[in-house]
Amino acid sequence: MSVVDDLLAVQHEDTTADQIRHRLANLPERATLEAALAERETTESGRDALRLERLELDRRQKRAEADVEAVLARIRELNERLYGSGISSPKEAREIQEEIDRLKPRQDDLEERVLEVFEEIDPVDARLGALDARAEAGDEAIAEAQTVLNATEAGLAEDLTGVLERRDAAAAGVSVDVRDRYDRLRGMFGSSTVVGFDGSGCRGCPSAMPAVEVDRVKHLEAGTLTDCTECGRLVAR
Ligand SMILES: [Zn+2]
Repeated sequence: MSVVDDLLAVQHEDTTADQIRHRLANLPERATLEAALAERETTESGRDALRLERLELDRRQKRAEADVEAVLARIRELNERLYGSGISSPKEAREIQEEIDRLKPRQDDLEERVLEVFEEIDPVDARLGALDARAEAGDEAIAEAQTVLNATEAGLAEDLTGVLERRDAAAAGVSVDVRDRYDRLRGMFGSSTVVGFDGSGCRGCPSAMPAVEVDRVKHLEAGTLTDCTECGRLVAR
């Protein structure tokens, strides 16, 4: 292998390594995972809001039930007095009976309110149940997306390791001086830092090589490197 072959191999592995890094940075598997995480986040905030709503309904239910209980306790108390032995006059008995009669419709109203709260609770519980199921499905989707992403990343990381090992092996055949020139130019020319000579000019640039220069390169020994005076790339003869 000539220096040129080794340098072309280095360039080839560098290009492949860049492609792998680009793939690693733009994996659709990562986008899938991010979408699953975002969806899960939406489900969770929906669930949080609904849980608050459910708590509020819980409080209303307890309050309504306590109101019913208070009225029932008052009615019990009045009934005990009415049928007890402490009544002093028919007038007092009448007054007690009147209060009981006033409390009955109040009790009905309050019991109606308890039922109304229950009716509001039912659909909220149904929606909560649906969100719980969606959250569970979301967790599964996240776990699966993470597994797929990990496997893809591991595969590419392994590929990259192999590429870098081959790159190092090829670079060992290139002098430090040439390597430095290549490394410096690569930032500018990327995968076409080292280009071939097509017999009439540099394959890397659109400018025509001056005839004198073409003649010079033509007479170089095969396997030598030279600079393109037009674009600055390394031209392999
Ligand atoms: Zn050129």
